[in-house]
Amino acid sequence: MKPELSVVIPVYNEEAGLAKLFARLYPALDALGLAYEIVFINDGSRDRSAAILADQFRDRPDVTRVVLFNGNYGQHMAILAGFEATRGEIVVTLDADLQNPPEEIGNLIAKVREGYDYVGSIRRERQDSAWRTHASRMMNRLRERITHIKMTDQGNMLRAYGRNVIDLINQCSEVNTFIPALAYTFSRNPTEIVVEHEERAAGESKYSFYSLIRLNFDLVTGFSLVPLQFFSMLGIGLSFLSAALFILLLIRRFILGAEVEGVFTLFAITFFLMGVILFGIGLVGEYVGRIYQQVRGRPRYVVQTVLQQTADQKIQPARSSARI
Ligand code: UDP
Ligand code: MG
Repeated sequence: MKPELSVVIPVYNEEAGLAKLFARLYPALDALGLAYEIVFINDGSRDRSAAILADQFRDRPDVTRVVLFNGNYGQHMAILAGFEATRGEIVVTLDADLQNPPEEIGNLIAKVREGYDYVGSIRRERQDSAWRTHASRMMNRLRERITHIKMTDQGNMLRAYGRNVIDLINQCSEVNTFIPALAYTFSRNPTEIVVEHEERAAGESKYSFYSLIRLNFDLVTGFSLVPLQFFSMLGIGLSFLSAALFILLLIRRFILGAEVEGVFTLFAITFFLMGVILFGIGLVGEYVGRIYQQVRGRPRYVVQTVLQQTADQKIQPARSSARI
């Protein structure tokens, strides 16, 4: 039987908080009174997370499924693998660290039932460090301007998607992506609700400053060509300016004679332009790198094992032999 709701949760080194998550998540979902499944993806954790998930699967095999990766492929790849395993009509994503209260899932589902196929979320009061909150707000504003994606709060993973959106995402083979943005591009009728946000229950953030920069490049390069096009525009602007400067210096040379003063001004201009060029080349590199990864066509992630109840474990022996 197909569940109505699938909850997808990526897990990476979360051993300290998983028990607390189970203790809140299962009762919250049981209280909804609908058929559900929870798909956990272990993203190559190096702690006891995989063992804890396996124990939980043994505890509640009827509603729990666990996809075990053989390495760390990142949060968004883990969610993609989770999506491929889901069967529900409504799919909700959630972080494993309890920053997204499981009790909010009911509100997301209520919105989906009103006819929306994408329910985003806005954190009422974000419980993260000040620099992350500010940097994220800036990135949010930039993304708003250069992509067509309308999202008030891009960083929150507590979201609900309709089956039509998930099926389309499952057809994509992108190597670097940002799930909420990808889902938004496929949704017919998106909306947002305000949700609570809590402090991390245990452990610490799995995102370093470096991986946050990588993630934001995924978001921008995956959904917009504006940065590349910006450089062609900048190139045009700068070539006009340098042509003007050349003519000015030429005229000056004939009127006032040769000069050495102002050489350092020229140095300054040159260094500035070199910086611009280096950044431009780096940006081209970001796109080319992604194209390279894509054309190699390697598997995006490798699933080692899936823990789930098989069909013959669930149905009567007489019926299962009839099916063969
Ligand atoms: N996560 C993952 N793979 C990673 C990094 C994170 O599956 O490489 C999971 C992590 O276990 C958590 C979610 O993604 O469930 C969000 O991570 P985290 O809470 O560290 O991010 P933050 O809240 O700081 O943005
Ligand atoms: Mg978190």
